[in-house]
Amino acid sequence: MTTSEQLFEKAKTLIPGGVNSPVRAFRAVGGHPLFIKSAQGPYLYDEDGQQYIELINSWGPMILGHAFEPVEKAVRDAIQHSFSFGAPTRKEVEMAELIVDMVPSVEMVRMVNSGTEATMAAIRVARGFTSRDKIIKFEGCYHGHGDSFLIAAGSGAVTMGVPDSPGVTKATAADTLTAPYNDLASVEKLLDNNYNQVAAVILEPVVGNMGCVLPEPGFLEGIRTLCDKHGALLIFDEVMTGFRLAAGGAQERFGIRPDLTTMGKIIGGGMPVGAYGGRADIMSVVSPAGPVYQAGTLSGNPIAMSAGLAMLRYLNEHPEVYTQLEETGSKLAEGFRKGLVKAGLNYTINHIGSMFTLFMTERSVTNFAEAKTCDLPLFGRYFRAMLKRGVYLAPSQFESLFISTALTNELVEQIIQANEESLQEALAEA
Ligand SMILES: *Cc1c(COP(=O)(O)O)cnc(C)c1O
Repeated sequence: MTTSEQLFEKAKTLIPGGVNSPVRAFRAVGGHPLFIKSAQGPYLYDEDGQQYIELINSWGPMILGHAFEPVEKAVRDAIQHSFSFGAPTRKEVEMAELIVDMVPSVEMVRMVNSGTEATMAAIRVARGFTSRDKIIKFEGCYHGHGDSFLIAAGSGAVTMGVPDSPGVTKATAADTLTAPYNDLASVEKLLDNNYNQVAAVILEPVVGNMGCVLPEPGFLEGIRTLCDKHGALLIFDEVMTGFRLAAGGAQERFGIRPDLTTMGKIIGGGMPVGAYGGRADIMSVVSPAGPVYQAGTLSGNPIAMSAGLAMLRYLNEHPEVYTQLEETGSKLAEGFRKGLVKAGLNYTINHIGSMFTLFMTERSVTNFAEAKTCDLPLFGRYFRAMLKRGVYLAPSQFESLFISTALTNELVEQIIQANEESLQEALAEA
């Protein structure tokens, strides 16, 4: 047994499923998870002494590669002054100012400790502000593990949601309506059928959580118009896309102004940080300015703020980061396409900037139902073949890959070569 296998066996007796977040257990791809010991630049190193090229980057935060010097230095400087005060600090003001400066629609912002916390707070604020109870979300969009979001579509395309996890009550599910992504007509129908009851429409402006799925032309604009017509707030969940698709996130890239925005991942530079923000009149209902309660003992933690500030400052001051990510992303996607052709496959690649997914299906993928047509056993074999060649992909078909600036042209070529071989191997094993 490898050290990773030994650690996993022991972990399973101590931690549910052996992991602190489900996807890490590799259940969707088979095999056992690698236990990571360290990381530097584009590489991960596991407990078994193997090196892997990173295409997850902690699900986004390590957009500048691992152990990025300015972020490390900021944290080293900060830890000399104690780890937490539970009192206001200068860094929180600087952080808020920077976020307001970078993210077009954000006028005021509140820091929290995770993306999940950010989305839970954002819908409470939307409900408090509008005095309405219901929300609309989209099938396949992930907004963290808050009860209101763990909702599956009911029968039929446009219906009331049902709990998607034991422990979520039917009453909670009844307040979450679901629609297929990229389907404006469904959203319109939900808003009409629940007239004056919908507090907010929440979505990933580019989806990362059913694999990478792009909004079709007019979709985001259409949702904005429908929200305005019905007095519902538009919430962009930019936990994944924020500071990634542009310095100002997807809203900058697509030129759409949501009312509220949730942020996470990159915003903490690898530390547990989330945030929600938006229009000043809406954010002013948050306590203690207003009546909607939301709090956090460790929110705005000085070490976490130091890491996040260093990360965001660097991104804000180096627009060439995004040019580089575009180029690297395009090269990879192009190389993967060639690999598919060589393997005689007509599968779909969705790509934007530094996010992309190779879907093992010939269907175009614009929503969750289409994503689910993928050949999942083939993906599992492909994933393991890539791992064997030292490339660490997200261990599920329904995830996006995240590129960092640490990927050199030489590494891109290595990954493209590994992709070609892995596709052939996965097919031959069928
Ligand atoms: C990761 C993610 C979340 C949840 O963030 P956590 O920090 O894992 O709680 C919410 N929304 C989106 C779009 C995400 O990608």
